Amino acid sequence: MKKIQMVDLQSQYANIQDQIDSKIAEVLKSAAYINGPEVHSFQKGLENYLGVKHVIPCANGTDALQIAMMGLGLKPSDEVITADFTFAATVEVIALLQLTPVLVDVDPVDFNISVEAIKRAITPKTKAIVPVHLFGKVANMEAIMEIAKKHNLFVIEDNAQAIGATYTFKDGSKKKAGTIGHVASTSFFPSKNLGCYGDGGAIFTNDDDLAHKIRGIVNHGMYVRYHHDVVGVNSRLDSIQAAILNVKLPHLDAYNKARQEAARKYNLAFATEKNIITPIICENCDCHVFHQYTLRVLHTDRDALVNHLNENGIPCGVYYPIPLHSQKAYADTRYDEADFPVTNQLVKEVISLPMHTELDDDQIEFITSKVIEFINK
Ligand SMILES: *Cc1c(COP(=O)(O)O)cnc(C)c1O
Repeated sequence: MKKIQMVDLQSQYANIQDQIDSKIAEVLKSAAYINGPEVHSFQKGLENYLGVKHVIPCANGTDALQIAMMGLGLKPSDEVITADFTFAATVEVIALLQLTPVLVDVDPVDFNISVEAIKRAITPKTKAIVPVHLFGKVANMEAIMEIAKKHNLFVIEDNAQAIGATYTFKDGSKKKAGTIGHVASTSFFPSKNLGCYGDGGAIFTNDDDLAHKIRGIVNHGMYVRYHHDVVGVNSRLDSIQAAILNVKLPHLDAYNKARQEAARKYNLAFATEKNIITPIICENCDCHVFHQYTLRVLHTDRDALVNHLNENGIPCGVYYPIPLHSQKAYADTRYDEADFPVTNQLVKEVISLPMHTELDDDQIEFITSKVIEFINK
């Protein structure tokens, strides 16, 4: 059996090595290292794939979130509601911009921001909601957009984990994750569903004015060379990374299918385990692209399970072990533990198993047998 990895980037690279290597060599020869034709063609390719009017590439997913918030003109002390159970980047940029983060609880089934909790958290100062499509599953965007419309709020989708997922509305219409809110951010960090070989990110929007504003912000606030109209940042996607993404974008759907296939096999193996709650897989939709495959384990010492798997050569992850409202950097007397029953429970129960595009049946069989062995011991 091939050595099990949390994410197997080497095998994925080996399958596309010729194309990648020749593309990188082309960029090196062209000397168009910054904002060259590869960046432009990736931008167009991703706009086309997502069905969104504007993609603005940038340096990473954290910058993308920050720039999206700058573009919306959010002001210090504006309240921004986001999930308590997510990667810290989301709340970090809210705090950096001196906006007020308002962390709320999540849904126990799909781990995404709770619509009821959003409703309870809205005040006259609330200006935006940041749903995170956690682990690759699109949040309840229809309900979130309704609340936003009612209260005149911006919706910024943190789509770092769900690129390529498709959301289906009640009327049957479909949209790609990241094209539903006013603006969205994504990351091309190597282990993400569409990863480059370094850092990369992008912002998406259908709003022409916002796109124009953001194109200036990513480039030192310049709309005309050496005229700085707004305070900007320097945040660019490298040409070499764009060239890599141009090779990988046509494979994204197949990569996501491979992840969904692995998730299906995991779920099947765990189907009769009473102490394992598996992620839900919708049969007729594409709302989950399994950036992570995350279980809840009940009546089990989760950390001992992690050790057991590691001892058997199986890497695994705990995403995330500490609620954001309990992190030193984001703790606040405004928060009441009673408002976070789900997150406080999930941090004790979740475990993410190896998930990537190259998992084979032997590996899945071995991983699931070791999990089941421990749960039933
Ligand atoms: C990865 C990630 C980010 C940040 O992306 P970087 O490219 O690493 O800056 C932001 N939000 C979420 C939910 C992520 O998973």
